[in-house]
Amino acid sequence: MSSTQPTLSVAVVGAGFAGLATACMLARCGHQVTVFEKFGKPESLGAGILIQPSGLAAMRALGIHDEVVAHGAKVDHLLGVTARQRPVVNVRYQRWQPGSFGLGLHRGVLFNALWRQAQACGVKLVTGEEVRDLATLQAHDLVVIADGTRSSLRGQTGLACSDRLYPWGAVWAVLRDPQQQYGSTLWQWYRGARQMLGIMPTGHAPGGQGPVVSLFWSLRADQYRVWLDAGLEAFKREVLALHPGCDGLLDQINSLDDLTWARYHDVVMPAYHTDRCVVVGDAAHATSPQLGQGTNLALLDAVVLCDCLKQGLPVAQALERYTQLRRGHLHFYGQASRWLTPLFQSDLWLLPWLRDLFMNLGSGLPVVGSLTRQTLVGVRQGWLSRETLELAKLQAQDAA
Ligand SMILES: Cc1cc2nc3c(=O)[nH]c(=O)nc-3n(C[C@H](O)[C@H](O)[C@H](O)COP(=O)(O)OP(=O)(O)OC[C@H]3O[C@@H](n4cnc5c(N)ncnc54)[C@H](O)[C@@H]3O)c2cc1C
Repeated sequence: MSSTQPTLSVAVVGAGFAGLATACMLARCGHQVTVFEKFGKPESLGAGILIQPSGLAAMRALGIHDEVVAHGAKVDHLLGVTARQRPVVNVRYQRWQPGSFGLGLHRGVLFNALWRQAQACGVKLVTGEEVRDLATLQAHDLVVIADGTRSSLRGQTGLACSDRLYPWGAVWAVLRDPQQQYGSTLWQWYRGARQMLGIMPTGHAPGGQGPVVSLFWSLRADQYRVWLDAGLEAFKREVLALHPGCDGLLDQINSLDDLTWARYHDVVMPAYHTDRCVVVGDAAHATSPQLGQGTNLALLDAVVLCDCLKQGLPVAQALERYTQLRRGHLHFYGQASRWLTPLFQSDLWLLPWLRDLFMNLGSGLPVVGSLTRQTLVGVRQGWLSRETLELAKLQAQDAA
C-alpha cells in the first residue's frame, strides 16, 4: 500500500468473479475486506467462458494467471462458418500480437483460483448472507456492489440504470472431448441468424479426468418451451444438420435436462459510483456473450478500482476517477455486443445474409481487421478512439 493510502474497511456484496476479484485486489493493497455472499456453498455454475488477453492481463495482476492458464485450453482461432462451410468469422489472435491467445475455461477453475486467493489475502468471506438493504453496510468506508445481472442493490444507490432482456438466449452443456477434436479453435456454425451452434475448447473441469468442450445452441426465449416439447431427437437432428461431426458429443446428452438454459441482459449505467458505493461486474454492465467479454470486463473493473484507490485520493474522488476510466471501455463493449447480437441471434434475414457475404471479406481489410482483433482481445476503448488499453501497464498493477 502506498504511504498516502489509508486502510479502508470495504464490504463487497457477491462472491462471483467481479466480487472476488475486487476483494482480492483490495486486500492485496492492504484494505480490510469482507465479502457477503447469499449462497451457503458458493460455486460458479454456468457455461465455459472465453478469457481474452485483457482478462489474462488482469489475472496476472491478481496473481492467479499461471494456475488458471494451466487448467484452460489455449484458443488461437475463432472460426464461424455457414451451413455451407463459407467462413463468416475468421480471426486469429496471432494477428493481433504474436504469441497471444484466448483461454477457454471451465468457470469452476477461475472461481476456485479466486476463492483460494481471497482466503490467502485475508479476505473475510461470509457465506449464507444475503444483503437486502445497503443501509446495513453503512459502517464500511466503501461498499462494492457485485451482485450480478439481476442486482437488487444497484437500485438502492439512486444511480441511473437501464436493464433490458435480450429476446434470445442459449442452451449449453460441458461435454468430454478426449480426442481434443476441436483443437485450439472456437467453432461456430450459422444458418442465417436463427440457428447457431458453438463449440469451445474448455480445458479441464475442476477434479475432472480429461479435456472438455462447451457446446452452445442458440434459442429464442419464447421458443424454449416449444424446443423442450419437440424433444431430444429433434434437437440432435437440427444440430447434426449444421455440424455432422459432433455426433460423439451429442451421444453424451441423454436428456434435454442435460442442457442448461441461459438468457442475456443488457445493463447500461452512465455512472457506476456514489460517494461511497461502486457497482462492478454484470451488476453494472451485463452484455450478451456474443463477444465473450463479461468476465474479462469484471476482472478489469477490479484492477482499475484498486489502482484508483491507490492514488491516495478520498474515496469519493477515487470512485469518480473509476467511472471516468471505465466508462469508455464498458460502453464500447456494451454497444458492440448490442449491435452484433442481432447479426447472429435474431429473426432478421437481410442482415445475416449481408454478414455472410461481407463480414469475412471486411475483416481482411487492414482497418476493419485491426478493429475486429482489438475488439476481440478486449482492449478497444471506443469506435473512433485510437487509444487502446495498455495491458502491460495493467498486469503490473499488483500490490507492489
Ligand atoms: C451463456 C453465457 C456465456 C458467457 N460466456 C462468456 C465468455 O465466454 N466470456 C466472458 O468473459 N463472459 C461470458 N459470460 C458472462 C459472464 O458469465 C459474466 O459476465 C460474469 O459471470 C459476471 O460475474 P459477476 O461476478 O459480475 O456476477 P455473478 O457471477 O452473477 O455473481 C454475483 C454473485 O452475487 C451473489 N449475490 C447476488 N445478490 C446478492 C445479495 N443480495 N447478497 C449477497 N450475495 C448476492 C450471487 O449469489 C453471485 O454469487 C457469459 C454469460 C452467459 C450467460
